[in-house]
Amino acid sequence: MAIEKESKFMEWFNEILQTAEIYDYRYPIKGMGVWRPYGFLMRENMLKIIRKYLNETGHQEVLFPLLIPETNLRKESEHITAFEEEVYWVTHGGKDKLKIKYALRPTSETAIYPMYALWIRSYKDLPIKYYQVVNIFRYETKTTRPLIRVREVTTFKEAHTVHATRQETEEQIKEAVQVYSKIFDELALPYLVLKRPAWDKFAGSEYSVAFDTIMPNGKRLQIGTVHFLGQNFSKVFEIKYLKPDGSHEYVYQTCYGISSRPLAAVIAIHSDERGLILPPSISPYHAVIIPIYYKEGKEKVLGYSLKIKNKLLKSGFRVKEDFREEETPGSKFYFWEMKGIPLRIEVGMEEVNNQSVTVVRRDNRQKVRVEENILVTKIRELLDKIQKGLKEKADKWMQEKIVEVHDLRDAVEKIGRGFVVKTWWCGEEKCGRDIEDKTNAKVFGFPFPWEEKQKETSSKKCILCGKKAKFNIFLGKSY
Ligand SMILES: [Zn+2]
Repeated sequence: MAIEKESKFMEWFNEILQTAEIYDYRYPIKGMGVWRPYGFLMRENMLKIIRKYLNETGHQEVLFPLLIPETNLRKESEHITAFEEEVYWVTHGGKDKLKIKYALRPTSETAIYPMYALWIRSYKDLPIKYYQVVNIFRYETKTTRPLIRVREVTTFKEAHTVHATRQETEEQIKEAVQVYSKIFDELALPYLVLKRPAWDKFAGSEYSVAFDTIMPNGKRLQIGTVHFLGQNFSKVFEIKYLKPDGSHEYVYQTCYGISSRPLAAVIAIHSDERGLILPPSISPYHAVIIPIYYKEGKEKVLGYSLKIKNKLLKSGFRVKEDFREEETPGSKFYFWEMKGIPLRIEVGMEEVNNQSVTVVRRDNRQKVRVEENILVTKIRELLDKIQKGLKEKADKWMQEKIVEVHDLRDAVEKIGRGFVVKTWWCGEEKCGRDIEDKTNAKVFGFPFPWEEKQKETSSKKCILCGKKAKFNIFLGKSY
């Protein structure tokens, strides 16, 4: 890669998306891009991980229409106020002007909840834990960025749960945070779990919890959100249930979403000057087999390469062979390193004669000879090591991007140098907004759950007003 990642991050990011053939952003509508086969496989693998953890905790997948009648979208006032400027409208069917406009969903609360009102009758119908994976549309007026800020979010997993009591709903928030933690751990991403300040919560929610990661240029990227809706939407959409005592009550709700942004973070955080480094969990291939031969050894080497491939395929690994005649082994090494495949398997005459292969790790480029009889065990072990190693390295890297500060000028200086700052806040909204103004940065929020972190804060002072601090906050630049 010709461009340096930390200093010219967006240029680097655009280049890697093109070179590695992940996502083509040259589609003739601003903010919309095309998933190419290699990127599509990464996306599929991410979705498998998301579905696995949701399904095993009793979530069920559904699919709602793309269009939402304007009348539904306008029902919850805070919600529509927040999304009004970003909605794409369908105004015509053929040549006929529609009586009621349809919105391309910017998110699906107002599509799903009227149906919940039809389905939920009694406490026996609860809880409901549904999710869908769809595209959503937002007419972004800020600068768009491929995979980071787009007008068509092609991959939006949104879960919408319904519960009988406030207590049960709080428990669901905790479950969602656990599920998301497992998903992001498996993507080897570092993250902070933060409760957003009140002025930055999801429109229509009581509170929002967000998963934030930090990109190489120091900007925060929100990669997942979990919202406590309380009874705000159920009162608007008349979602009531019959309680065991014969009375009726409005249901309590949560919703939580993940977009394609985690993939942007995986690409950005793990890569090096040679290109991508993909965690085995989402890499399109775990290993690529590259034969090395001269004229006389060709048949033997290719035959043995295929034998190795089939052995690994049978054990459930994703393997690809690169038998292209027109490329040298050296250029293939370079190519698959750039693509980020965790393991390269080299097969030459020496390997054929010794019934072994040479394996090279993408993350640290260590080379080992592996006997064929222990191949499967050894490959699994190497992939595990890479997976864990990437997560540890990324966690450590993010910790180094966060610095503790106690005065405003220091905060501005550190943020200017690409750091996220950890500091303290009195909890007053006005003071929080002033901190944002004076540092020209965003208050990301404070750690969730908060109870565990409270102790440390009792002795600290608010960075702006100097009063006794109530929360430890994170502050910085954001996408
Ligand atoms: Zn203050």
